[in-house]
Amino acid sequence: MAVQQNRVTRSRRNMRRAHDALVASNPNECSSCGELKRPHHVCPSCGHYADREVVAQATEIDLEDDAA
Ligand SMILES: [Zn+2]
Repeated sequence: MAVQQNRVTRSRRNMRRAHDALVASNPNECSSCGELKRPHHVCPSCGHYADREVVAQATEIDLEDDAA
């Protein structure tokens, strides 16, 4: 097992972690519904990719049907 040679100080550890913050992604506008989506991904709100529907979306969930 590797053993570190020198103690990493709080300062040096925190300086290393200064670059660990998550950066915001670069969303695109969906061409069919206008919602923001990840580039090169299927739109999660309408299921379209490159102007055609690739994932069928449920229009409405009837909760009373499940209860019966
Ligand atoms: Zn969309």
